[in-house]
Amino acid sequence: MIMKILIIEDEHKVARALKEGLENAGYSVDIVHTGEEGFFLLNSEQYDLLLLDLMLPGRDGIEILKTVRKKDLNLPVLILTARDTVEDRVLGLDSGADDYLIKPFAFPELLARIRVLLRRGRENQTFQLQCADLEMDLIKRKVRRAGENIILTLREFDLLEYLLRHKDQIVSREMLARDVWHETNRATPIDNLIDVHIARLRRKIDEPFEIKLLHTVRGVGFILSEEAP
Ligand code: CA
Repeated sequence: MIMKILIIEDEHKVARALKEGLENAGYSVDIVHTGEEGFFLLNSEQYDLLLLDLMLPGRDGIEILKTVRKKDLNLPVLILTARDTVEDRVLGLDSGADDYLIKPFAFPELLARIRVLLRRGRENQTFQLQCADLEMDLIKRKVRRAGENIILTLREFDLLEYLLRHKDQIVSREMLARDVWHETNRATPIDNLIDVHIARLRRKIDEPFEIKLLHTVRGVGFILSEEAP
């Protein structure tokens, strides 16, 4: 999963340099030059981190920060500021920034701060799914059972992720067709296809193990659970 960063910075050259550096480091980056544009994107897109310049034309950084904090408490915000005064730093942190850097700064320092904030932000979110000793890591896209790696195809992974997110709930073939195969035309029967994938998944995650987790609920669908239905 690629982390998405939004940069709100009115100096075009600085913004471009930041974007290039961050993209080289493996992040996906959007740039905007005004608070208004930034606000529009924050409302329409999902970001993992906001890099925010304090001195902006129009709505300034502190105003944006306050509005962001009213809406989304988890988005990590790193302030970039040229105004190296104690009052500005305090103001930024009081308004809900997670960290700040004074311009000019060394790029590796920025990367280090971003890594810390992303790690911290991640702890609040679900990137690990689990049922008994079956574990899925959504970031590394790895599945393990009883500590052993299990290799899944893309579709099997999506299918298992869906079942894990609905652990202990019955999942119907209609739900799988709609949410995993994105097949909305009900005239297209893909029940057989679903059953084939369920059988393959079962061979990988259940067959070598004594306790079975993936159960068929006759006439209804499937359930991933430690207990047989
Ligand atoms: Ca500026």
